[in-house]
Amino acid sequence: MPIDENLINNIGGTSQVSRLDYKCGHCDRHVSGRVVNIYSRTQNKLDDPIIQFMICTSCIKGSIWSEGKIIPGTKPGEKLEGLPVEIEAAYQEARSCFSINAFTACELVCRKILMHVSVDKGAEEGQSFISYLDYLEEKGYITPIIKEWADLIREIGNQSTHKLIPPDENRTKATLMFTMELLRIIYEMQHVASKFKKNE
Ligand SMILES: [Zn+2]
Repeated sequence: MPIDENLINNIGGTSQVSRLDYKCGHCDRHVSGRVVNIYSRTQNKLDDPIIQFMICTSCIKGSIWSEGKIIPGTKPGEKLEGLPVEIEAAYQEARSCFSINAFTACELVCRKILMHVSVDKGAEEGQSFISYLDYLEEKGYITPIIKEWADLIREIGNQSTHKLIPPDENRTKATLMFTMELLRIIYEMQHVASKFKKNE
């Protein structure tokens, strides 16, 4: 079906359809986004869109509304502050992998994060995954609250060294949540605390 040019509508700022509430997949914020263009089902009927193009009022990045879905979609896990650049990039990658159901890739990136964190905290490079986990536990970075997760990750690590384990959404979600909590405790808390110290 060819594009019908008559159905493409630029939306002015005062138009009733110029705002759309959604959670931005770029910055994770709930925003009232600015709708700049609507491809409508019928001419001049803008409240029955096929596609809407929005700009996030918070991060000024573009998203698309298509048949009720927002693209890019939101990622699981939360935005964290104070992460070192490489770890931040890997954490975003892990979240993106999960959002597109790439569970094995997500788990691999989470392990990479654990390695980065351990080395950042003084572990030697080139160790096994389990030894990184042990290292963080030994140094007190893994608290009793997230110990249960740590054991789960260790178990997965043990299995995957001996055989290829099939992807499992719940297992990967637990891995990602564990990684997030670990990063929160190790980096974000310190980052937040340092803000207060500066103000003293
Ligand atoms: Zn945004």
